[in-house]
Amino acid sequence: MSATLQPDPSLIGGVPRARFAFPPEPVKLFQTRARRFAFLAETSRLAPYLAFLGRLSMLQARLCATLPPVEPVAADTLRLAAAGGMPPIDRAPLAADPLLAATLTALCDGAGEIDMPEPARLALEALGAAGEDDRLWLFDNLLADVIPEDSAAVHLFAGAAVQVHLARLAATLDPDALVPVRTGVCPACGGRPVTSSVTGTMGIENLRYATCSCCATRWNEVRIKCLCCGSTKAISYRSVETVDATVKAEVCSDCNHWVKILREEKNPTLDPVADDVGSLGLDALMKETGVVRGGVNLYLAGY
Ligand SMILES: [Zn+2]
Ligand SMILES: [Zn+2]
Repeated sequence: MSATLQPDPSLIGGVPRARFAFPPEPVKLFQTRARRFAFLAETSRLAPYLAFLGRLSMLQARLCATLPPVEPVAADTLRLAAAGGMPPIDRAPLAADPLLAATLTALCDGAGEIDMPEPARLALEALGAAGEDDRLWLFDNLLADVIPEDSAAVHLFAGAAVQVHLARLAATLDPDALVPVRTGVCPACGGRPVTSSVTGTMGIENLRYATCSCCATRWNEVRIKCLCCGSTKAISYRSVETVDATVKAEVCSDCNHWVKILREEKNPTLDPVADDVGSLGLDALMKETGVVRGGVNLYLAGY
């Protein structure tokens, strides 16, 4: 992942300039995530779930490589969005997009062949039997970053299809045409971040990129700032480990939310989604504090 995050080497006044946004490379994105899930599964008590998510991520990579190409976002749309400070991908209408429905069908077919925990198997069967209205309801929820806790398992597969479709759409965007929308808002699709990562490449230290939970675009954010409300005043950090923690909670006392921050410069194999699931101990710690989780992660909706 870090290789895709090299800052733009162009110089402004002799100082390297960080590129604002990196749309995903979908096949590589899901392959890297799959490998990381498989690695995390080796040492975790969540092993069966992590191993399943690894297989699901590999299926997502395969779909990205084999599905018919998506229609790139029109140049006019990109221009208008940039001029208005808006994300060029409008997510709400995508719920009714036949290409998204076809992606879900292909994902369900492929998922039928992978090993999974029993609750996931039951959810997959329920999804297979669901009518068009039910699927539309799932897509509407997912595209609005809403996952009802009592039906997290059914949303999981539909959400994996949404990730595939949105990553492929975002990959068609010219990164130079993306502009900041608001703190904590994806400049490609308007989604919320799953986590953010601190990187250190090409001579620029302490750069932070948030990763969109929906389309996987990464975008630059100020190093110490709440991704939920934009406040810089009351930020503190918590972690399970007392020394050398690579995953921390960035806590904001202004809005009472927290989002994980990954020290990718210490460990370049950290994945914004997989390591969020792999660091569930931090969620348990934070639950006791009463601060509300701000990061959106489909794979943690049931936890
Ligand atoms: Zn996005
Ligand atoms: Zn805040």
